[in-house]
This record gives sequence, C-alpha cells and structure tokens, in this order.
Amino acid sequence: MKNTNIIDSIIDNYLRFLFNFLAQRAFNSINKDTQNPNLVQKQVFKKILKLQENTIYGKKYNFSSIKSVADFKNKHPLTNYENYRSIIEQIAETGNYNQLVAEPITLFQETSGTTGKSKLIPRTKTLFSTFQKSFQACRIIAQNHCQPNKIDKKNYRGLPLSNALPLKSTPSGIPRGTGTSGGLRQSKIVQKIIGLNFSSPPSVLLIPDYQSAYYCHLLFALFANQQISYISTNFASNVLEAMQLLEEQWQQLLEDIEHGQICQNLNLDSSLRNELESILEPNPVLAQKLRIEFEKGFENIVPRIWPQLSYVGCITTGSMELYKEKLKFYFGDVALYSHGYGASESWVGVNLRPERETPAYVITSHAAFFEFIPVEEIDLAAPSTVDLSSLEIGKNYEVVVTTVAGLYRYRLGDIVKCVDYYNQSPMVEFLYRRGSLLNLVGEKVSENEIFAALTETLKNLSNESQIVDYTTRIDLSSSPLRYVLYIELSEEFAVLPDLKRYQNQIDDILSSLNVLYLNFRESKSIEKPQIKIVKQNTFKSLKQKILSRGSSESQFKMPRLLKEQILIDYLESLVRAG
Ligand code: AMP
Repeated sequence: MKNTNIIDSIIDNYLRFLFNFLAQRAFNSINKDTQNPNLVQKQVFKKILKLQENTIYGKKYNFSSIKSVADFKNKHPLTNYENYRSIIEQIAETGNYNQLVAEPITLFQETSGTTGKSKLIPRTKTLFSTFQKSFQACRIIAQNHCQPNKIDKKNYRGLPLSNALPLKSTPSGIPRGTGTSGGLRQSKIVQKIIGLNFSSPPSVLLIPDYQSAYYCHLLFALFANQQISYISTNFASNVLEAMQLLEEQWQQLLEDIEHGQICQNLNLDSSLRNELESILEPNPVLAQKLRIEFEKGFENIVPRIWPQLSYVGCITTGSMELYKEKLKFYFGDVALYSHGYGASESWVGVNLRPERETPAYVITSHAAFFEFIPVEEIDLAAPSTVDLSSLEIGKNYEVVVTTVAGLYRYRLGDIVKCVDYYNQSPMVEFLYRRGSLLNLVGEKVSENEIFAALTETLKNLSNESQIVDYTTRIDLSSSPLRYVLYIELSEEFAVLPDLKRYQNQIDDILSSLNVLYLNFRESKSIEKPQIKIVKQNTFKSLKQKILSRGSSESQFKMPRLLKEQILIDYLESLVRAG
C-alpha cells in the first residue's frame, strides 16, 4: 500500500487514541451499570417519559402524570409492532415525527422480517448513541480477553465484513433502509472510525453488492497481512460467506495482490475502482507467500494467512449456532467472540464473559427500560412482567423494551434464559424467537430443539456429512399434522441416506426434549416429522431469493420456519429426496 504523509498519520494516531479512549469509557460505564442496574433503569425510565411527554403519543397516555413503573404498567398495555404500524406509516408519509417521538427520526430501519412482515423501526440520534456505546464496549471486552499480548494497539487493523445497501426515502423524505446500511452511510464518524481501525477503506463498506464488497474486504485484508488482528461483523453466517468466497476466489485474489489491481468481474463503478486501485501497489512477494499457504488447503487457513489474528467478533447464538462448527474448520483455535445481542428496536445485552462456552449476554440497562414476561405467560391475554433484577436463574422469559425512540412495553418476540448474574445484572442466553415456534396443536417446539435434534441425528447416523443449512414448515395437509424439515447436507450421495432412520431419530430426540411433543405424539395428534433432503446450494439460492427483495447480507438470518408459500414452493422444487 502507498505511504500516507506524516501529518495525516499523526492526526490518525491522535484520533485512534481518542476512539480507544471513548471505547474504554463506554466499557467502564457499562461495567459500572451492572453494579446497580435498578438505579440505571429508574433513570432511563424517567428520561424516556420526560423526553416524550409532549409528543401526541405521550399526551394520549398522559406520560407527565406517570410517577412509577407500576403506574406505567397500569396505564400502558404491552404492545407489538402492529400497535405502531399505522402511526409509523403516517409519519413516513407526513414527516410529523412528533406523533411518536420528540426527536427527529434519522432513519426508518427496515428489519430483516425473518419471522414475519418486515417492519420500519424509528431510529433517533439518542437511540443510535445507545447502540454505539454497546459496540464500543464490545470491542474493549474482546481486546482485553482475546490474547491481548498479540495486539499492537498502534498498528493493528480489523477485517470488516459489511456492506451497505443504498438508502431509500419515505414520501416525506426520511431515509429508510437496513440498520447497518444507515449506520454506515449516514455517520461520518462511523466512516472515520472504519478508515482508522479497519483494513478496508470506508468506501468498500458502502458497496451495495455484498459479494463484491466481501471480495474487496478480503483483498485489502490480505494486503494488510500481519496487521490483521480481528474480524468484525454481525453474524457467523457473514464470516462463513466470506470464507467460502475466499475458497472460491483465492487465485484471483492473489493475482490482484501480485499486480496491485482489482478483479474486473466485480460489480464496482469505475470511480470507486480507480480510487481503490490507486491505494494498491503490486506485491508479488506477498502473493507468493500467501500462495504457499493456500496450496496447503483450507483447513486452519485463517491463522496461517493472518498470523496476528486474535479473535472474530460475530454472533454465534440463536439461528447462527449452526455455522459455528463450520467456522472452526477455517479458524482453528482463533476465538469466536459472540459480542452482543440487539435488535433494530433496541440493544439488549453485551457478552461480558467471553470465556463462557455458551455465550450469554448481560442486559445493558442503559439501552432501554426492560421488562420480562415469564415464558409460561407469553400466550396469556394480559401476561405479567418482572423487572431486570427479578429474573430467576434457570427460568425463561420474553424480552420487553421501552425505548428512547417511541416503542413502549414492546414485545421483542425473543425468548431468553437467565443463566447467571454479572454483578447485580442478569446474564441471559438467547433461546429462540417466538415467531419461529413450531406449534401444530400446542406442543411449541422451538428452533433450538429442532437444531439439537438435527445435529444429534446427524452425529449418530452419518460420519461424513454435515448440515449445510436447514429450515422447517408445518404441513397442514397431512393427517395427523406434521412438520417438514428441509435439510441440505454437505455431501452429494451416491446412495441416499435412509430418511426413515433420520425421521425416527429426530422424532425420538424431540420427544426427549419436549414433553408436550411427546404427549401429542403418543396421542397421535401429530405425526413424526418428514425429512426432505434438498439439492446442494439450495440454501444459497434461497438466501439470494430473499436478499433480492432488498434485505441486506449484514442482517440476513436464515428463516428457521418458512411461512411464505412462494418460498416453500421454491424449496419443494429443489427437493432431492423425501
Ligand atoms: P434485526 O432487528 O433484523 O436486526 O433482528 C434482530 C433479531 O436478531 C433479534 O430480535 C434476535 O432475534 C436476533 N438476534 C440478535 N442478536 C442475537 C444474538 N446475539 N443471538 C441470537 N439472536 C440474535
């Protein structure tokens, strides 16, 4: 890479110092909050009601008269997105944000719509700052935990795996798009931080086509070589996507390194291509050094090509658990740090105990006012809620947030399990989304139960093949009713696996995990699940199909319960056996 001048590098060093200082401050603050989360929650609760009391919504619920949480719970019901849909549509149309929030809406975040219709979630400056604080803290936690001796704070760089779709606009001119795209496109500070901390120039993160963006990220990270100290992205699936791209494209990447160019096949406009190529210098020596490593194969490739890499920051829980094992193939012993838990609506938790085998998140009391519905009550008409410090270890709850950006007692739809306390703050494991529960007759089989049954079955019945991906649907046309599980396996089979045995195993394991399932199976109210093996690359093309509707790779989560007939028909067309 070409030299920058000395003054620029002094400024950069100063800014890097400043950003590190701010990140450390965010971490200290979040850590301190864990000692007295009740006090923080009281302050957040008061702040929210005060901030919004003069909005039309705040007046309707008479926020100024609410003096306590109990009062708030009496006056304001639990809500979900449908309670806000029409207000949000009106704001999008007219721009009159005061209907809901006192501050201007800087972005309508489009959610991934994994378990239902896509939503528009208002983002304000204050909401965004709660996210930034959590992100900053996660970086410090990772640095402190993951082989800190390897990190030379002045020179290290991260490999970012992100891309940003163009932002659209509502009829009243408010930007709309995915949360990640908004963060990257709208904030100059975020772009500056990227330029300083990552191997990719900020403009690479703005490339809409994610495969082209990932190619460039990999290229710049290979150039940066010894400096790459961490990888940062949202989800394990993003990292896997990048690793598969690396495996497919390594020869082209090396050619680009050798000649200081960018592959012509990428979807880049010419000014961006020129900008990026002007930074690259041919480096045949590096290309040759890397070639030796690639030619040894892809097992454990990452620590060989980025020897200073100390961790990968990506979410590995929930629907991402499937990809964790596969990443180990490429990453060997490099730590995977599942840094945080959040949604477009609100940040929820940070992982303050990275050493824990199953990642758990300490609820970030600064981010929202939290309530939790005991899982036994989630289907009641008026469930009760408990506050953050009343969670019982070992019990499951649905998360409810009151946010600084206009959502009140809002049910996130996520079910978590309280597994411990960190100081006085609860630590939760993510279990599943309510919207992905398989529920034919009241048995409520969750996505983590299906995942456990699938992995156990594969372990027992197949030595060589792994699950590439899977999803489910309910089959209302069969009698008795049943689930259909679509599975893509890593091997093409000359002789197809014995699906009956798979079905029996999965049925047995689900029966052992879920007593209601067992009861309904015994009473013959439901049939054992049907397994369908789909052709190779089916899930890649399913993902493309979903992304082509405007979702972003950075936010994509494979739906574990398919409800849309058009997607079900698509999968059916790719069934190989079953
Ligand atoms: P979105 O608003 O589209 O970004 O999606 C947010 C949802 O992603 C959350 O409500 C969770 O269901 C899921 N999610 C976010 N963080 C995690 C995590 N650490 N583990 C598992 N699922 C997560």
